[in-house]
Amino acid sequence: MEPIQHSLRKITNKDDFKQRWQALKEEVLEHKAVQAFIHENASSVDDDMINRSMGKLYEFINQHTECRSCESLQKCDNLLKGFKPKLTIDRNLIDIRYERCEKKVAQEERKQQESLIQCWYMPKEVLRASMGDVMLDDKSRMEAVTAADYFIENYKAGELIKGLYMHGPFGVGKTYILGAIANELSQRGIQTMLINMPEFSREIKGSIQDQSLNSKVDAIKKVPVLMLDDIGAETMSSWFRDDILGTILQHRMMEHLPVFFTSNLSYKELEHHFTYSQRGEVEGLKAARVMERIQFLTKPIKLAGKNYRHL
Ligand code: ADP
Ligand code: MG
Repeated sequence: MEPIQHSLRKITNKDDFKQRWQALKEEVLEHKAVQAFIHENASSVDDDMINRSMGKLYEFINQHTECRSCESLQKCDNLLKGFKPKLTIDRNLIDIRYERCEKKVAQEERKQQESLIQCWYMPKEVLRASMGDVMLDDKSRMEAVTAADYFIENYKAGELIKGLYMHGPFGVGKTYILGAIANELSQRGIQTMLINMPEFSREIKGSIQDQSLNSKVDAIKKVPVLMLDDIGAETMSSWFRDDILGTILQHRMMEHLPVFFTSNLSYKELEHHFTYSQRGEVEGLKAARVMERIQFLTKPIKLAGKNYRHL
């Protein structure tokens, strides 16, 4: 778009100023939105005001006032990207107020929602999952979605409500459903942290001496809704089981903060995983203690059905 000042300057510099002014005025007055504005404000807008406001009116008609014809926010060529002009009256002159356009509003809402979901070591595609898209072609998936809906509807900060322990083979959509729940919660302003357990345990081992360990564990302890993806696939050490996972779960139980899990293992198989540490120690009691916390915090759901990875 040509800068408005240039267009107006061209007009004022020419001899045929009057004629060109008239043409410009006609162009402005032919614009549907300008006509509607004048009509709505007929009691205060007069010809003199229109003449004195021509600069603003010309600025107005040269910009998009609706997004329907806009391909994308990136391609918006309004004076202020993502803002559309609206005519107003200010001290006897017609003025322009800029408002966020529909596409800008939607983008900001999306960003705000995404900022409510923290993903650690999770593929970004998880953020695209939606409850509405979870395929209900299997009874177990139906059960998972019903339980997830119950959680979403009944979640209240400070009140303990059981999360889900979704277990079953690879590719049945456990992680997808987790992401969909996180998205649904974010639309309600509820903050979630989604963590891939194998990656997390690998990384945290390297940060034993690192100050950041405490702050990471602290964040996991306190986030309103915690989701631990693929528990049981991490390499198990007594330290990780008792001092990291055990401490986090203990804190969340006491503070009534819900936790979700996905796993290839059932409760029983997970207990077995926790019993045998990497070093070959057999620690049945300690395993049972972590399992008690997990079972206290969750409702188990066995997922079966098609493997989506091989569709
Ligand atoms: P799991 O965690 O049980 O191993 P995933 O959630 O990773 O399985 O799902 C496997 C693949 O199928 C992923 O690529 C995922 O995005 C896709 N997927 C799973 N459920 C759905 C669904 N309801 N709609 C669309 N894609 C899905
Ligand atoms: Mg998974």
